[in-house]
Amino acid sequence: MQNAVLITIGDEILSGNTIDTNSNFIATELKNIGIKVSQIFTISDEIETIKSTIKSAFELGNLIITTGGLGPTRDDKTKKAIAEFFNDEIALDETTFAHLKAYMEKRGRIEILERNREQAFVPTKSTVFQNHFGTAPCMMMEENGKLLFSLPGVPFEVKPLIKNQIVPYLKDKFSLNYLSTRIVSVVGIPESILADMIENWELALPQKISLSYLPVGTRVKLRITAIGNNENLLQQQLEEEIQKLLPLIKDNVIATSEDKIEKILAEILIERKLTISTAESCTGGELAKMITSNSGSSKYFLGGIVPYETAKKIQILKVKQETVDQFTVVSEEVAAEMASGCQHLFKTDISLSTTGVAGPGKGEDGKDIGLVHYSIKIGDKIYSSKLFMPHLERVDFMNFVSQKVIQDLVSILITE
Ligand code: ATP
Ligand code: MG
Repeated sequence: MQNAVLITIGDEILSGNTIDTNSNFIATELKNIGIKVSQIFTISDEIETIKSTIKSAFELGNLIITTGGLGPTRDDKTKKAIAEFFNDEIALDETTFAHLKAYMEKRGRIEILERNREQAFVPTKSTVFQNHFGTAPCMMMEENGKLLFSLPGVPFEVKPLIKNQIVPYLKDKFSLNYLSTRIVSVVGIPESILADMIENWELALPQKISLSYLPVGTRVKLRITAIGNNENLLQQQLEEEIQKLLPLIKDNVIATSEDKIEKILAEILIERKLTISTAESCTGGELAKMITSNSGSSKYFLGGIVPYETAKKIQILKVKQETVDQFTVVSEEVAAEMASGCQHLFKTDISLSTTGVAGPGKGEDGKDIGLVHYSIKIGDKIYSSKLFMPHLERVDFMNFVSQKVIQDLVSILITE
């Protein structure tokens, strides 16, 4: 099996301005074809640093993938570093130049600047993988059976290069194994207790099947992975193992294939032909965003509102002033009335509501930050709950709460 090392190049990643999402994406894609990433380096845009890191990386693995520093500006130095490392020259590649010209013309850029033309210069020993979503080509260098791919940094350029070109190339070149994965989503059991409950099953797993625990919010995703050369057989083996696992934790499993909570919800809503709407205060639209991030959500999501001010909850959702006065705006009673009002407004089977204090300041009633009441209304049944998450940052709080609300809805729909 191949061993890979990733090198993320760019001062803006080191300074914390940009989050390195490329490594995460590349490592996942490589894992899917059975290539393990053994180390990830993040380094600055300096020729000497790039060269010395490539040297170290080749001592650790036989496949290196770098991202970043291939652009047309002066701060982009990766190409030069690679040419120097491999004792190569940089020269104009006519095919790449033709591709670049066509790419720019298609976007209305008739005049090609010298700066752009320079992007068609590549090390003479390199194999070029054309970039269909940007101007910097991807280059591959090969030496003594070891490979180095150099990609631009922009994530939407990296993704198709990896998925459509590099992964198929590697699969073909190394006749790699298939990797098949299933995800079992478990709710209502803490990770450590779950680990005890399924220990015997885990110990009895065949050697080529592995298990990992991925907690997200209050859910634990069990990722079960099988490696082998027969894809159908792998899927069958995974299914058999899942069938052995389910009786142990049956009441707590909300899905056995889909991974994202909004997708799990989508499957249930579509199958049962149910519609849904949202009325969100402290989650600020995050719930609606999560639900609509699933393509095809227009089939079941009819709409959502963010009535932030108390008066808007009263005007739009018909929350009663007395309820607010008696219980305060962050209360089970207000959440329930918001859900009812929302269901009425959008005429949906299901409605979700949140009211709380995301922080960091105190809420209008002096209630502590991190408190949220939420309601799930299904038909004329209402389910209300509260959460207290004072330690979370505002954005993480919104995300956590939204995950939990959808997760609870899924649990209710499955069990009732
Ligand atoms: P460009 O042609 O845009 O200059 P480049 O190959 O030189 O491409 P960089 O300049 O290193 O790439 O990065 C371009 C942009 O891509 C950065 O502004 C940053 O937003 C994003 N980016 C770079 N590296 C990463 C990374 N590892 N993860 C996520 N985003 C990244
Ligand atoms: Mg750049």
